[in-house]
Amino acid sequence: MTTLPLKLTPSTDPLPDTQREAILENPGYGRHFTDHMVMIRWSGERGWYDAELLPYAPLPMDPANKTLHYGQAVFEGLKAYRQPDGTVAVFRPQDNAARFRASARRMAMPELPDSLFVAACDALVRQDRAWVPDSSEASLYLRPFMFATETGFGVHPSQQYLFMVIASPTGAYFSDGIQPVSVWLSQEYVRAVRGGTGTAKTSGNYAASLIAQAQAAAHGCDQVVFLDAFEQRWVEEMGAMNLFFVYGDRIVTPALTGTLLPGITRDSLLTMARDLGLTAEEGRISVEDWQRDAENGTLTEVFACGTGAVITPVGSVKSERAEWAQGDGKPGEVTLRLRRALLGLQTGRSADAYGWMHHVG
Ligand SMILES: *Cc1c(COP(=O)(O)O)cnc(C)c1O
Repeated sequence: MTTLPLKLTPSTDPLPDTQREAILENPGYGRHFTDHMVMIRWSGERGWYDAELLPYAPLPMDPANKTLHYGQAVFEGLKAYRQPDGTVAVFRPQDNAARFRASARRMAMPELPDSLFVAACDALVRQDRAWVPDSSEASLYLRPFMFATETGFGVHPSQQYLFMVIASPTGAYFSDGIQPVSVWLSQEYVRAVRGGTGTAKTSGNYAASLIAQAQAAAHGCDQVVFLDAFEQRWVEEMGAMNLFFVYGDRIVTPALTGTLLPGITRDSLLTMARDLGLTAEEGRISVEDWQRDAENGTLTEVFACGTGAVITPVGSVKSERAEWAQGDGKPGEVTLRLRRALLGLQTGRSADAYGWMHHVG
């Protein structure tokens, strides 16, 4: 099963080179898609079958498709980076594969073997390697996802699924210098509860977060920060990114209590920080700690991290009750050091000390 043959059906009319190159000059995020996609089907009787790489195209969809009604859908996000020698390498795909299985399990969906997940990503990157940008900090974002394809209104786990991978070139997240973001502490909405789906990368979590993000925007903030659902006191995540709190040369990130999404960037930074001579810990940070320590200056920096933006500094905080500045409005020194170290490793400018880069060729 894990050696399921992947049928290759390359496009007969890929985007002309000049048009692709024009897109790669300024790709934005998630606006343009490469020439191909991968599909693997699953059914209760057959398991995984019909693995295929084929031209990117719309999907025919039955209006009674269960995903549209009951939301059985999971996804991943990972990046392929152009290396200095012109080859392409993907950052920690095995870890995304393992998390994808965990997300699927939580949503009562079948678990795609890691080898198939990685082979599907590799096949797409190889086929569409011309779409991997050359410029530093730009990358090809890979979006593996899976959803129910059974039709009907019966509420039970679908007996048919479609796994797919599509890819989108992405530019440097900060095109004119790194700007700290302002955050809104949401005390009305929560992202996740114990026993819920907070640890799964599932579409519904994103749907549920949008109103809180809109509320943040209405308060003039760039991003929303979610607190724990029980006490509304402990800081959990910023939008779809994990948070780090910097106390001089000690960095602390909220522990994985069962309601946080276990970010691969978060995990990478915990490891790298220690090798950069920092103390890296998982802990608990309350809203009161955050405000007090930001105001007395012991909390020197705060940043968020995730595959999309890699590292984003937080510059100010606002809630119904309070408002305070975090730092001096510029990205902090530790934030920038960690960002440089991680991007250096991903783009192959520094050594891959942890064996995190998966070379695709
Ligand atoms: C994907 C995601 C993250 C970041 O995970 P990475 O593996 O670092 O990209 C953080 N929080 C949420 C809610 C997410 O969905």
